[in-house]
Amino acid sequence: MYLTYFKGQWAEGNVALFGAMDHSVWLGSSVFDGARAVRGHLPDLQLHLERVIVSADRLGLRCPLTAAEMAALVREGVARFPADAELYVRPLVFGAEGFLIPEPGHSGFALTLFDAPLPSFAGFSACLSEFRRPDASMAPTDAKASALYANSTRALREAKARGFDNPVMLDGEGRVAEFASSNLFLVTPGGAVVTPVPNGTFLAGITRARVIGLLAEAGVQVEQRAVAPAELETAVEIFNTGNYGKVMPCVRYEQRTLAVGPVATLARDRYFAFMEGQ
Ligand code: PMP
Repeated sequence: MYLTYFKGQWAEGNVALFGAMDHSVWLGSSVFDGARAVRGHLPDLQLHLERVIVSADRLGLRCPLTAAEMAALVREGVARFPADAELYVRPLVFGAEGFLIPEPGHSGFALTLFDAPLPSFAGFSACLSEFRRPDASMAPTDAKASALYANSTRALREAKARGFDNPVMLDGEGRVAEFASSNLFLVTPGGAVVTPVPNGTFLAGITRARVIGLLAEAGVQVEQRAVAPAELETAVEIFNTGNYGKVMPCVRYEQRTLAVGPVATLARDRYFAFMEGQ
């Protein structure tokens, strides 16, 4: 089921949100976030709602609701689904008025919830993409802006056409940035757990930060540093973190098969324990 809150009402289905004169439609002033409601648990919901407010601000929009108001709506929406539902929770802020520049006071807001069962821990395949992440001088990488996803979608389409699930995207200088819409971790042959250091080219996700903290509590330190693409070819584990799948192992990188390893399994187990505690 799809359920959307828009202009004071809840409605099911693919609710129409935009008008022909909306700035967002023509010129891309739209930001969103993705949170989860998993069997009634709302992991890091507050952080996701705070992030959409910041993202809106970065594009000259103004989120018309506070994080507390959005959280109340999320809870209202979740209550309309069965208690065991696994949902995606997507707040959207968009430029509803404005010719060349959005008018902040006319930012539209919608909240959509839909069924999206957590993927199994079986893992995904990945390949190196031709398409790169822009840096902050080229695109609003400090916002979770819909416009950025046109490029990630090109990378995803390219990966699918090659028979892979997920592209690894580099930054402009050729360092590993992230997957199309999740963060990347790897374990080196020497056993170091590594993730790219935030450099303004990729979204340093909420799940990424949570997993780094949970691994530290379990005694596993994650090194944040520049990662060369060649390291993917020798890594003993590669996994991702993100709101959609939480922690998922990469079981094939290009032509090489990888096992579901102990670090990804630990991260996943710790994340689920954390989530179920919220
Ligand atoms: N990078 C991109 C481009 C994303 O879209 C997402 C999903 N929001 C992530 C990383 C992971 O971020 P988070 O853990 O906050 O969901």
